[in-house]
Amino acid sequence: YRCAIRQHLGKLVAGDRVIWQTDIEKNTGVVISALPRTHELSRPGFRGQTRMIAANIDFIGIVMPVLPGIHPDMIDRYLVAANQLGIPAIIIINKVDLLSSEEDWEAIACLLEPYTEFGIELLPASTLSKTGLDDLRAFMDGKNSVFVGPSGAGKSSLINALIPDLHIRVGTLSEATGLGKHTTTNSILYHLPPLNGSELFGGNLIDSPGIRQFSPTPCSLNELESYYPDFSTYLGGCKYKNCTHSIEPNCAIKNAVEEGGIAVSRYQSFQRLLTEFKNESEH
Ligand code: GDP
Ligand code: ZN
Repeated sequence: YRCAIRQHLGKLVAGDRVIWQTDIEKNTGVVISALPRTHELSRPGFRGQTRMIAANIDFIGIVMPVLPGIHPDMIDRYLVAANQLGIPAIIIINKVDLLSSEEDWEAIACLLEPYTEFGIELLPASTLSKTGLDDLRAFMDGKNSVFVGPSGAGKSSLINALIPDLHIRVGTLSEATGLGKHTTTNSILYHLPPLNGSELFGGNLIDSPGIRQFSPTPCSLNELESYYPDFSTYLGGCKYKNCTHSIEPNCAIKNAVEEGGIAVSRYQSFQRLLTEFKNESEH
């Protein structure tokens, strides 16, 4: 049913639970109230406003394509958000059919080793070779999941593969830039068909627009540190108690980066977020 929304309800987002009434004759409906949200994924928007991405979610699938490439910085941003919400995330390595050798996969596994070391699962997937689709479907059963990642990552293709008869539009990669076209600007929720023999509720899957640069909600230094489990063994070893691990001498985190205990990309994303949060608070 195409529904109007009572004005006082403000903006609703994919995943919101609402109470609505139908007008059967007109085949339309009206949303009359919205239930309180748990776990809302949002990002800072223009002029300090918040842009909602999804509500009431309990699982984040970070979709990263083998081609054009995997961006650890983007993974880290979504992992911080997942941590802030206290919900699990996995990294879906998509389009693995494009890998030509075992070594190609090894290179990716190596790049993403920091994540597997602190317990984030990597799931190789491809709609072309039908890799990982059953595992992914089983993972999402009965959950409210959201797929995030750059546009062109293959999210629409995955959704089409997971939900037969849906046929949502698949954006074609621009030949010139290798970047995906922006096909959606709002998140859209799809119902997953129940697995054979399972309960009636198969779960929901929310597709989010490809956000060029997602930012988690600004937080304190200590809070951000707590979202970097790979830093934990070194924290407390710095000379200064409130060390920001940037310009301070005798910094245990920087030493760990030099000695290979912490991945450079993880250190860099941490510093970028810290700077962003600081700039945000000065506005
Ligand atoms: P979205 O922007 O994340 O929704 O990505 P799309 O699903 O629109 O896919 C972007 C491009 O990647 C399209 O040209 C797809 O044909 C291609 N693509 C999607 N999935 C796969 C895959 O598993 N393997 C390969 N080789 N290409 C894929
Ligand atoms: Zn330090």
